[in-house]
Amino acid sequence: MKPAIVAASIARGAGLLAAALLLPPTGTRAQGTPPATRADSATVILLGTGMPYPDPSAQGPATAVTVGTRLFLFDAGAGVVRQMNAAKLPVRGGPITAVFLTHLHSDHTLGLADVIFTSWVMGRRQPLPIVGPPGTRAMVHHLEAALAEDIEVRTRGLERGIPDGWRTTVREVTGGVVYDSAGVRITAVPVEHGSWKHAFGFRIEAGGRVIVLSGDTRPSAALDRAARGADLLVHEAYPAVRLKPEDRPGGELWPQYMRAFHASDEEVGRLAARAGVKQLVLHHLVRMGGTDAELLAGVRRGGFLGPAVIGKDLDRF
Ligand SMILES: [Zn+2]
Ligand SMILES: [Zn+2]
Repeated sequence: MKPAIVAASIARGAGLLAAALLLPPTGTRAQGTPPATRADSATVILLGTGMPYPDPSAQGPATAVTVGTRLFLFDAGAGVVRQMNAAKLPVRGGPITAVFLTHLHSDHTLGLADVIFTSWVMGRRQPLPIVGPPGTRAMVHHLEAALAEDIEVRTRGLERGIPDGWRTTVREVTGGVVYDSAGVRITAVPVEHGSWKHAFGFRIEAGGRVIVLSGDTRPSAALDRAARGADLLVHEAYPAVRLKPEDRPGGELWPQYMRAFHASDEEVGRLAARAGVKQLVLHHLVRMGGTDAELLAGVRRGGFLGPAVIGKDLDRF
């Protein structure tokens, strides 16, 4: 098939895929899955805690949550699939139950083609469910169209690639419950991330735990509510004391940008204290030279006195 034909068939399939979504909760992946119990405890694995800066020790933002045999992926930054392997998560046979995107900033999505296509090459047969904000469908279809020559060669050539194993089902949402099956409920929480029309944090209730992922956000009342009583809050942050204009054209807008798009360590500390979260993990840090100790001191100034750590790649909680 020529790329244009593949792109057209992708576009044609979009309507069908939209109809066969992850929800209602009896999605194909979840059928037959036994109810989550305490034995099916929920584990959070930080696959990537980095920023756009290509730090080899901090891959692009991506977080896995496993519950029994189910594997939920939140964001798909650069390096995500190799980090799954490094974390000893399964990579063969299409192990990802669903991918959830917090928003469409490139550092959160640059690994999405890797997730879609490497999982296929590693034996995925079923469409990969992807849930994200409006714009996700177009992004995924463009990625699929961009790889049309690869699809052609792998399926029609000597590799005998699994036909259609590269496919996805995309569901665009603006908030609310996005997965609810067999003891796992995942809610997309609309947060405030500067000029993005749609950005989410996620609240995951599973295995007797409540886990909240902030996504990218400035202080947000909705996230406050979602985090109330959470066992674990994984939040982005920057050190408030380091925020100042940058020495570059447009750098005078930097503090304004940061306050509109992101949350300071003190603000996160206030949120965590207010919400009464049991454990706080900071990641996806705009450090501006700030050390771990400075960030944690900021959290304390904000009033949170519970356990707080700076998350590193492959940490588990
Ligand atoms: Zn962002
Ligand atoms: Zn980000």
